[in-house]
Amino acid sequence: MTDTHWLFGDQLGPAFLRAGDGGPARDARVVMIESRAVFRRRRFHRAKAHLILSAMRHRAAELGDRVTYVRADTYREGLRRAVGRGRVTVHHPTSRAALRLVRSLDNVTVLPPRGFLVGPESFADWAGGQRTLRLEAFYRHVRRDHDLLMDGGAPAGGTWNLDHENRRPPPRGVSSLGAPAPYRPREDSVDDEVRRDLDRWERDGDVSFVGRDGPRAFPADRREALAALRRFLSHRLAGFGAHEDAMLAADDTMSHSLLSSSLNLGLLDPAECVEEAEAVWREGGAPLHSVEGFVRQIAGWREYVWHLYWYFGEEYRRSNVLGHTGALPRWWDELDADAVSARCVATALRQVRDTGWTHHIPRLMVLGGHALQRGWDPAAVTDWFHRCFVDGYDWVMLPNVVGMSQYADGGRMTTKPYTSGGSYIDRMSDLCGPCRYRPDRRVGEDACPFTAGYWAFLHRHRDRLGRNARMTRAVRGLDRLRDLPELLEQERERERLRGDAPP
Ligand code: FAD
Repeated sequence: MTDTHWLFGDQLGPAFLRAGDGGPARDARVVMIESRAVFRRRRFHRAKAHLILSAMRHRAAELGDRVTYVRADTYREGLRRAVGRGRVTVHHPTSRAALRLVRSLDNVTVLPPRGFLVGPESFADWAGGQRTLRLEAFYRHVRRDHDLLMDGGAPAGGTWNLDHENRRPPPRGVSSLGAPAPYRPREDSVDDEVRRDLDRWERDGDVSFVGRDGPRAFPADRREALAALRRFLSHRLAGFGAHEDAMLAADDTMSHSLLSSSLNLGLLDPAECVEEAEAVWREGGAPLHSVEGFVRQIAGWREYVWHLYWYFGEEYRRSNVLGHTGALPRWWDELDADAVSARCVATALRQVRDTGWTHHIPRLMVLGGHALQRGWDPAAVTDWFHRCFVDGYDWVMLPNVVGMSQYADGGRMTTKPYTSGGSYIDRMSDLCGPCRYRPDRRVGEDACPFTAGYWAFLHRHRDRLGRNARMTRAVRGLDRLRDLPELLEQERERERLRGDAPP
């Protein structure tokens, strides 16, 4: 009898059923398991729970009679009900916990991972020859290996990295970049059913969620994901690069692709995204800096993060070199943006509450930066990002949060902590103007929490950061602050008086 092939909820595109080259049998039956325990274990954003369930049920509807769709408490129970002791294949899952589970089941054969450009052997070969695993070197390796944006042996346009053209502040005096609107799906009867189920589970007290659910803003099937990709390539890619790092209060999506959830659900293949983006450039439809910026995100960052997740090992999630142990305050956990006065934090938190998504810079420099400066436990911060973002999965969260945003790994992933004072946020956004805090004030009633927080953070970790060549100048800056004692007293007092209160 032919094996049954098991699709996890993030293996929903055609690539995961393609036979040959380590794929499942051509005529394999399919099993999908909707595990209630997954939603019970963590308090997810409701829009995320909705998206995942909607995507799984849409895929099941497409597969029709070929699939056995099981609603069970756990995966183990669901699989037993669906196939008994029958033979099962599954593509390498994306989390260590799921990999442990499938490996523990003796009727399951694990096939190679899909959904990424670079295979494990290729990464191991590359990593074996490196002294340090830096993104830039890896990205060039992927570009060469996959012949992406290459002219013969040289990078297209003569340079690998056009980042300097992609870090511009927002144009002055505008509230929006004016990019054509991104694709948004239309809900259907599957979404209605999902919403009814989630309402019932909540009413029964079985699960609890945060955030607002709806209307669904991200693709749930291949057709929608392709429409989102096409819309981005033809209307938004050209404007992607220049203001990639900028933030505007009234324009949360700017020119970003909004493709992360589709890629991470497996609905889009990274190869098709970068190859089609390159084709747009070759036909003159978008400038090189935008296309290179986009290719770097997918062929560089996304692949790098995926491989580091496995390469760094199980212990990585417990990294905490800065010794941060603060608990997440309630307003943060509840996404209570209305309680926050600091306009940057309030704006980013509101976006998370309403959509389960923000672009990269609010994640890194605002939300992550605030958590880092306040000394919150990096594992709790990672869990929060995982639960609250529609595109969050264990593999993508650990390097991005533990490494990149919280510097809890002491620099295995980045060369320095990513955090700044209010002047960076002021330069890169329109958020500071009407804010009650002033980015250039470190002490006093209107002291910016990011500016004061930045210096207090540097002071707290002065010894460690002073030994980092990229931080010595910043750390030396502490010596020039005549009001440092006052600033530190203010921060201590703030902690003492306000405790968990929002900034
Ligand atoms: P775009 O700006 O349009 O970029 C294109 C694509 O590049 C994204 O869709 C994504 O697939 C990929 N990409 C870019 N940067 C990264 C990165 N650092 N890691 C992985 N993929 C990347 N990305 C996630 O997919 N899931 C997450 O849970 C996630 N959490 C993050 C948490 C923090 C603290 C930080 C700093 C970054 C996180 N990222 C995460 C990376 C990045 O912020 C998002 O991929 C991006 O904002 C998604 O929006 P977009 O699709 O419009 O991306």
